[in-house]
Amino acid sequence: IRAKIQTPDASPAQEHAPLQARDYPEHAMLERIHSLYGNGSTLRNPYFLPRSGTVSGVLEIEQEEYVTFSNYNYLGLSNDERVKEAACAAIHRYGTHAGAARMVGGECELHRELERALADFTGFEAATVGVGGYSTNVSAVGYLLDKRDLILHDEYMHNSGVMGAVMSGARRIAFPHNDMGALKRLLGENRKQHRKTVILVEGAYSMDGDLVDLPRLIELKKEFGAWLMIDEAHSCGTVGATGRGVCEHFGVPTSEVELIVGTLSKSFASCGGFLAGSRELIELLHHFCPGLLLYSTGISPANTAAALAAVEIARAEPERVQRLQNNARTFKQLAEAEGLDCRTSVPGVPIVPLMIDDDKALHLMSSLLEQRFISHAVMHPVVPREAARLRCFISADHTQEMMARMLRLIATEIAGSDKTN
Ligand code: PMP
Repeated sequence: IRAKIQTPDASPAQEHAPLQARDYPEHAMLERIHSLYGNGSTLRNPYFLPRSGTVSGVLEIEQEEYVTFSNYNYLGLSNDERVKEAACAAIHRYGTHAGAARMVGGECELHRELERALADFTGFEAATVGVGGYSTNVSAVGYLLDKRDLILHDEYMHNSGVMGAVMSGARRIAFPHNDMGALKRLLGENRKQHRKTVILVEGAYSMDGDLVDLPRLIELKKEFGAWLMIDEAHSCGTVGATGRGVCEHFGVPTSEVELIVGTLSKSFASCGGFLAGSRELIELLHHFCPGLLLYSTGISPANTAAALAAVEIARAEPERVQRLQNNARTFKQLAEAEGLDCRTSVPGVPIVPLMIDDDKALHLMSSLLEQRFISHAVMHPVVPREAARLRCFISADHTQEMMARMLRLIATEIAGSDKTN
């Protein structure tokens, strides 16, 4: 959850210090992985499992089918024939790559169609699209602010937003998760000393499956003259009666929010990122945001076409959003009926954490794999030891039986391991 912040090393520069992987603290984690899953281990390695087929509720790995709760396929569009055909047709017509930065030769008709479709879907005046969700977020936050500014972000803000904040050079303060009282205090104490103040939050939090307190945030941003930027990576396509995101969910006009960042990799079965906001702001970002269209090659025709088809289907088939939300609600109900703790996740949001014991996470993942289920644990040091969880992503493709079977297994495994301790 907590992003690693790179601060300049205060120690004097060593002459000829070689670049060595083992100097990095994460190297010890790699060694732990090797020792856990090396030769003779009884544990199955759940990482980097190469699939040999498409992504739906099920993955094929080495000729065996696994039900997966680790993939982003919220609306069940990853294996949709219309999406796949749109990508193939785009390759045949436009080739495999954008060919240049969009401004100088890489622009393709499809880019504009996708941007119009995203603006229309999200309800903002305009949108612009880049090659990745992560890079779009880093670039936009990094570009829009500088050392005269203040960024107040939720402590659970995704690493891409935090890295953008670090890159911007603005003063950066994290506020306790969803704590609007603390945010108000920080705004009161710090707002006046800075040129711009931006509040950075996620729509649906990617580790906990809870939602931002948007109505209260709108009051605070107005009271203190701050901007609001929302990362809707997990809420666009999933939250709100027709999946338009947190503004729809809370009945807030999109004109109250300065900017959203979204991704094409979760609901929209593709790869890329987008920004949506006012026409004027988006035009600026479209031309000058460094990692978006300038200094970066455009998103490929296949990815653009897949996302465009997916956005059109999401709009035309709101029943998919309903199916997803029903599945997410059912999953949480079934999990709680099995005695599992889903933290503060909001019913209907398609991220459901199942709290587990950090020490038992690897065995649990391995047992699930043996039973043909995939669900990955988030463990220390990504989260504190007491906050380890299996993070389950729900899809419109899941059936109730898939959910019930996996949850039964998890509850049984946990009960079994409690007895042996
Ligand atoms: N924001 C959030 C909240 C995310 O969870 C992620 C990725 N999981 C991103 C941004 C980056 O999106 P992408 O993976 O499409 O680069």
